[in-house]
Amino acid sequence: MSACIFCRIVSKATPADVVYEDENVLAFHDIHPKYPVHVLIIPKAHLPFVPEADVSQDALLGKLLRIGAQIAAEKGITKTGFRLLTNAGPHSGQIVHHLHIHLIGGEPLRPL
Ligand code: 5GP
Ligand code: ZN
Repeated sequence: MSACIFCRIVSKATPADVVYEDENVLAFHDIHPKYPVHVLIIPKAHLPFVPEADVSQDALLGKLLRIGAQIAAEKGITKTGFRLLTNAGPHSGQIVHHLHIHLIGGEPLRPL
């Protein structure tokens, strides 16, 4: 059994509140939401973080953003706005080493 918590969610070994699923992408609510809308969009295949992506994954990485925007629309926050971001490495605070895009919104976000 995988030691990666997000691989375990993909395989359904660990439950999650799934909001989107297809053949290569899964999206689910963050277990500790920091915003009124806080969803994680992940590739089903294990990839630690963006620096390990290669050219064969360009389409998949773009798809993660598009699905994020689609979920934002479903959550009704397209007009008020939202942020899609991915952490990479220690300074970013990344704690789960399976690439994920955070969709956050539902309230005003601090400017970067
Ligand atoms: P990051 O690695 O970018 O800092 O963030 C990882 C995110 O995953 C955190 O916001 C954390 O709350 C979330 N998370 C960690 N473990 C689980 C889990 O088992 N289930 C869900 N749904 N979210 C998780
Ligand atoms: Zn994984």
